[in-house]
Amino acid sequence: MMIVMKPTATEEQVAAVIARIESCGARAHPSRGEEVTVIGAIGDREHVARLGLEGHDGVEQVVPILKPFKLSSAQLKPGDRTVIEIEGRRVGGEHFSLIAGPCTVESRDQTLTAARLVSAGGASLFRGGAYKPRSSPYSFQGLGQEGLRLLAEAKAETGLPIVTELMDARDVEPVLEVADVIQVGARNMQNYSLLSEIGRSGCPVLIKRGLSSTLEELLMAAEYVLKEGNESVMLCERGIRTFETAYRFTLDLTAIPVLKELTHLPIVVDPSHAAGRRALVEPLSLAAAAAGADGIIVEVHPDPDNAICDGPQQLRTEDFAGYAARVQAAAAVAGKTSFVAA
Ligand code: PEP
Ligand code: MN
Repeated sequence: MMIVMKPTATEEQVAAVIARIESCGARAHPSRGEEVTVIGAIGDREHVARLGLEGHDGVEQVVPILKPFKLSSAQLKPGDRTVIEIEGRRVGGEHFSLIAGPCTVESRDQTLTAARLVSAGGASLFRGGAYKPRSSPYSFQGLGQEGLRLLAEAKAETGLPIVTELMDARDVEPVLEVADVIQVGARNMQNYSLLSEIGRSGCPVLIKRGLSSTLEELLMAAEYVLKEGNESVMLCERGIRTFETAYRFTLDLTAIPVLKELTHLPIVVDPSHAAGRRALVEPLSLAAAAAGADGIIVEVHPDPDNAICDGPQQLRTEDFAGYAARVQAAAAVAGKTSFVAA
């Protein structure tokens, strides 16, 4: 249920409604908008309905949230978009973000070179995997803790916040020491215990859409994080599996405007994993930015021909600055006004 407070409602009245919701075992998730405060009451619908909140001081109306996803629903934040702050960088709303870096942390030289060049080229966050979800158990699985240490070094030098994947809840502590944003990989989108653990950590999270997941399933994954009180959730469209075999995955650009209707959460697009090859990355990025994406997460490597993982799809570091400028211009077409390196 959603409790819409009157524009004149006081903080005491909001607090009293929250206490009442919690008295029946439901959880209250207040969202303070510019005009009004809306409180999501998540729990047994019958119990919440019996509280008779309509008559409570300061309450305008009580309306059901019709979608199965509740806290991520656009209905809960009418006319308002979530903006996530990561060490002074903002994602969502009028802000456009470029998250760039190699697929995998391979070596000190590769990581620091990539970080320096994407930082100079206009990236707002640095990506790199220390734990890699590989289709084959015989492929390189990532440097693990040593990779995390290199990411910390890259951040110390460039100041760029770090986006890195957490694959297993058992690694949450070392990853949290370094990650400013935890990435949940496409293959883990429905790992509900991992999502809940990240929810409890409070760390911002980027959830990648599963290879064959619907948008509703993606939003239900976000719900697992939000339910724990962690509001810093970004969604990522990274290509889905279709009958087409001419490229790695089909980038679902339609997901961008549709997610904007369904949710207030920021939407990031990963053109690299969808494309599978470098030549497609820029056109897909331009299209995603022009379609209203709140950010792009893109793979960039100083020597992609010798990369351990995903070499053919990684942009060359020397091409990044030009690419970033063109993508930001496309984002401006879609109404973005704030860029880290405009
Ligand atoms: C990645 O970003 O490095 C990655 C493995 O992506 P995905 O989970 O989307 O395949
Ligand atoms: Mn990759």
